[in-house]
Amino acid sequence: MDSILEQARDLDREDVLRDYQEAFVIDDPDLIYLDGNSLGRMPRKTVEVIRNTMAVEWGKRLIRSWNEEWMAVSERIGGKIAKLIGAKPNEVVLTDTTSINLYKLACAVLNEKGERRKAKGSDPVTHHPSPFTIISDNLNFPSDLYIIQGLIDQFGSDYRLALAESRDGISIAREALEGLLDSHTALVTLTHVCFKTAFMYDMKRITQMVHEAGSRVIWDLSHAAGAVPVDLNGSKADMAVGCTYKYLNGGPGSIAYLYVRKDLQDRLLNPIWGWFADADPFQFDLAFNPSPDIRRFQASSPPILSAKAVEPGVDLLLDAGMDKLREKSLRMTDLFIELSDRYLDPLGFELRTPRKHEERGSHVSLSHPEAYRISQSLIHPSRSARVIIPDFRAPDLIRFGFAPIYNTFEEVALTVSRIREIVDQKEFEGVSPVKPKVT
Ligand SMILES: *Cc1c(COP(=O)(O)O)cnc(C)c1O
Repeated sequence: MDSILEQARDLDREDVLRDYQEAFVIDDPDLIYLDGNSLGRMPRKTVEVIRNTMAVEWGKRLIRSWNEEWMAVSERIGGKIAKLIGAKPNEVVLTDTTSINLYKLACAVLNEKGERRKAKGSDPVTHHPSPFTIISDNLNFPSDLYIIQGLIDQFGSDYRLALAESRDGISIAREALEGLLDSHTALVTLTHVCFKTAFMYDMKRITQMVHEAGSRVIWDLSHAAGAVPVDLNGSKADMAVGCTYKYLNGGPGSIAYLYVRKDLQDRLLNPIWGWFADADPFQFDLAFNPSPDIRRFQASSPPILSAKAVEPGVDLLLDAGMDKLREKSLRMTDLFIELSDRYLDPLGFELRTPRKHEERGSHVSLSHPEAYRISQSLIHPSRSARVIIPDFRAPDLIRFGFAPIYNTFEEVALTVSRIREIVDQKEFEGVSPVKPKVT
C-alpha cells in the first residue's frame, strides 16, 4: 500500500483543484470526510456571510434589508445554480425543500393532465376509466416515492404508481422504463443520480423517450448538482428539483431549488397559492394572481439565513468549473474502485456502483455483511486510527462520497487501507449492532 499512497500523493500535487480545499472549514486535518453527498462541508465564506446577514442586514438595517438585499436572493442564487445545471437564470428559483418542490411540480402536472384525462375517457373494453400511471423506479429516494403515493391518495384511483425494477440492484435498464411508458403515462419522476448506488441516468435519452410517449419528467438532482455535469436545457428537461446541502455545501436542511423550463412556466400552476407565488405580493390584493414567471412556484417569504448560506458553496463550484470537477471525481472514484477490487473484494466487499463512467455519479457504494459495524469502526475507531466518515445505508451498504472540490486522492488510498485494517484485525467485532437515528 505504501507505493499506492505515494502515487495518490503525486496525484494530489498535480491536482488543479487542490487549492479549493482551503476554501472550506477543516477543523481536524486528519479526519477524512466522505459524506459530502449527505451533508457537504462548510465553506469559510459562509461564516462571514451569515455573520454579516445577522449583524448588519438584520441587526442594523432591519426591515429595510428586504428591499436592499433579501427580495433578490432566491432568484439571484437560483440563477447561479442554473449555471451549474445547464438552465437559464429565469428557470431556477431557490425555494422550500426538495420533497415539497417535488410535490408542487408533480401536482401541477397532474392538474394540467386533468384535461387529457377527460379527453381520453374510459377504457373501450372494460368501460371503466383506465388508470393513469406515474412512473418511477425502485431505486429512487423513498421520500420522492412517498410524495407520489400521497398525491395518488389525494387525486384518487385514476392514478397508480408504476416502478421500473432494477435487475441487479445497482442500475435501471432503459428498457425497464420503456416497457412502462405509454399514452396513459401522466408523469415520470426520476432521480438523476441514485442515492444508494450512484447509478446515473442518461438524462437526454430518457427525457426524449418520455416526450415521445407524450408525458413529462421531473428530475431530482439532489445527488447530481455539483457532482456531475447536468444539462437540463440540452436534455430538453421539463422540470427538476434538488437540494443544496449535499454537493452544493449549503448547510444542514438548507433551502432547495426547482427548475421549470421557460415555456412551461405559465402552463403549470403551483398548487400552493402563497403570497410569494403572486405576481405582486405587496399589492395585498384579495384575489390570487399567479406570477407569470418562475416566482409562481414559490409559496412564502424565503428563509433568508438559510438562503444566504447557499451562495458561497455554489460560487466555489462555478469558479472551479463542473468539467474539471467531473474529471477529478471520476479519477477519484476510479482509484477507489481499482483499490477496492484489489484489496477489499477478497475481504467480502462487493462493488454496488456502476463501473461505466457515463453511469456513475460521485460516490461509490460497497456492500458487506458487516457493513454497519465496519462503517462504525471507521467513524469511531477503537484504536488511535484516524476518523473516516462515510455513511451506512441499510441493509448492507457503505457509501463513500467523493466531493472533488475538497477530497484528495490521498484520502481515497488511506480509506481503503483503513478498511482493510478494520476487517483484517476484526476491529468491527467490538461494535454494537444497535443503530442510531441518523446513519
Ligand atoms: C437528499 C435528497 C432529498 C432531500 O429531500 P428534502 O425534502 O430536502 O429533505 C430528496 N431527494 C433525493 C433524491 C435526495 O437524495
